[in-house]
Amino acid sequence: MLSAREAVQTLPLYHPPLAGRDGLRLDFNENTVGCSPRVLERLRRLGAEELARYPEREAVEANVADALGVATPELLLTNGVDEAIHLLCETYLEPGDEALIAVPTYSMYRIYMMAAGAQVVAVPSSADFSFPGDELCKRITKRTRLIAIANPNNPTGTIAPMEDLQRIARAAPDAAVLIDEAYFEFYGQSMLAARKEFANVFVARTFSKAYGLAGLRLGALVGDAEQMLAVRRVCSPYNVNAVALACLPEALSDQAYIQQYVSEVRESRARLERALEASGVQFWTTHANFVLARVGAAAGFVEQMRRRGILVRDRSSDHGCEGCVRITLGPREHADRLLTALQETVAELGITQAASRQGALRP
Ligand code: PMP
Repeated sequence: MLSAREAVQTLPLYHPPLAGRDGLRLDFNENTVGCSPRVLERLRRLGAEELARYPEREAVEANVADALGVATPELLLTNGVDEAIHLLCETYLEPGDEALIAVPTYSMYRIYMMAAGAQVVAVPSSADFSFPGDELCKRITKRTRLIAIANPNNPTGTIAPMEDLQRIARAAPDAAVLIDEAYFEFYGQSMLAARKEFANVFVARTFSKAYGLAGLRLGALVGDAEQMLAVRRVCSPYNVNAVALACLPEALSDQAYIQQYVSEVRESRARLERALEASGVQFWTTHANFVLARVGAAAGFVEQMRRRGILVRDRSSDHGCEGCVRITLGPREHADRLLTALQETVAELGITQAASRQGALRP
């Protein structure tokens, strides 16, 4: 009987957005209002000829490289950052190799690493979710071939100091080190410039979050030009579709739109943090477009919020995240709706007491 590879049979399942996500989508860290109108305008102008052709990645790749200040051979456009992670696993991991992550973190690292047959070494963060730089360095061995770090991290929103990232890159010259900057726009600090000193460091960016293009599946992977040659060998020639390629230059050209969105999200983030603080709900200081909060009975909280038209994500099964939910931020009007629903839900479930019973730490 046909059976999947052993590594595949034991893979954990990722739970993508369910069908029928009615309500305000604060559950998957997307842009809550959508992309720049320039993108929509470009979509309206798409012609049959553009769809009939196989997609041509190169010119848009040069455009994105330019915008990021890197050389074209250093950049590969990908089908979201997810594909970039997958490609790095396929390029560098042999079965039995070690791959390092700090948990809790983005679930797809583990899944692609395991699918490649690697042994995943998960280094736990401490209770305050600060980056376990020292511990990670200690776990680097001769067999470590890939290290994946989200900065800012998901689901915590916490960050890794640049010095730690550089120290890790230096300590593991035989490993690919992925710095996943999916939430870069909400944070503002990047490894892109420092990366030039390291042939083993890769930086990933996405157009799924601040740019509001999660549905188009667009990411970028930047690395040493020679290493990128190897990654390109693994990559499908038409990994990014023609519609996405047509829209990307428009999205990039409207930086005012991104800046406005990011500044509104930052304002909403501060409002949510103040509201959580006032209710006595534990949360962690975040540098992304979401906040992780310990509400106690997470499933009940998610359900109560859903009844009020707000979708948030239960993260209670992630390492160290017992009783936690993750809440995405959008602009002011979405924060208004969120905060109203939050106040009602906190009152209804008596969350302050529940959280403090669990010995909640203040951030
Ligand atoms: N990296 C991190 C840290 C993420 O949180 C996500 C999305 N949840 C991704 C990558 C995937 O992004 P994309 O949509 O570009 O595949």
